[in-house]
Amino acid sequence: MRQTRLRQVWQSIQGARVWTDEVGEGITRIRVTSRWARMLGFEVSAYLVGDLLVDTGFAHVRQQVLSALEGWRIEAICCTHNHEDHTGNCGPLAAIHGCRVFIRNHGLRWGEGVRRLKPYRAWFWGEPGRFDAEEMPDEVVGRHRSLRALPAPGHSITHVALWEEATGTVFTGDLFISPGASAVLIQENPYDLVDSLRRVAAVEPRLMLTGHGLAIEDPAPRLCTKADRVEATAARVVELHQTGMKDRDIVREVFRGGNRRDRNIELLTQGEFSRLNFIRAAVLHEPGRG
Ligand SMILES: [Zn+2]
Repeated sequence: MRQTRLRQVWQSIQGARVWTDEVGEGITRIRVTSRWARMLGFEVSAYLVGDLLVDTGFAHVRQQVLSALEGWRIEAICCTHNHEDHTGNCGPLAAIHGCRVFIRNHGLRWGEGVRRLKPYRAWFWGEPGRFDAEEMPDEVVGRHRSLRALPAPGHSITHVALWEEATGTVFTGDLFISPGASAVLIQENPYDLVDSLRRVAAVEPRLMLTGHGLAIEDPAPRLCTKADRVEATAARVVELHQTGMKDRDIVREVFRGGNRRDRNIELLTQGEFSRLNFIRAAVLHEPGRG
């Protein structure tokens, strides 16, 4: 009784909201937010493609996500990548629907700060808890629909873009969040990201559905523009680094004037996401280095 009351209080603090809409041919978007996410203008999206579920939202909205998917048949869960705002409900959904969970490079999935979430991440999204996952096959086949997994590392080593050729739809998780170089996690690899953006653009999607609510028609030019911008920024970083300039000065030089969104993210994540990380990653992963 006391536990139920506590859970109710906690849920009301979180202010979880889940609603669904149709975004394509037989594609249902499950949109989830919490009070904190709304304050930052954030939402997280999962998608039901026939009986294949792309991502699962975050743990703080678990009850609402489970209810929204009640009565649907789910054959498999395909994770765009192993971050807790996308995998937060894999365990309970797999148990209820008796389905498998696929993640690319699943053997490496604990290596990117996910095993022990920083307190702000646990507070913001909640802990996904342990769940079993299998290696993402090249093609995930449902009863009526299938999704091809295009490797899309950069933001995470586990990242894929899920491509449905029949409808020209691609699900890109966190591949495309901002239109250019931005604050990133220390594990990110900007050169891999550039290749991934171009790989996805090359299939010429008609519709791109992202992990944070964007639905972009004919996204190839925007993907290519982002790839060009990230590539040019990384090249400039390396050039300045070779002159002996300090990393923090390079931040000021290449991100002139700053960007309010990046500054807010740096503050909120206690620097776990930062423009400084972009500088370090551009130098560390420079092609041909090491
Ligand atoms: Zn992510």
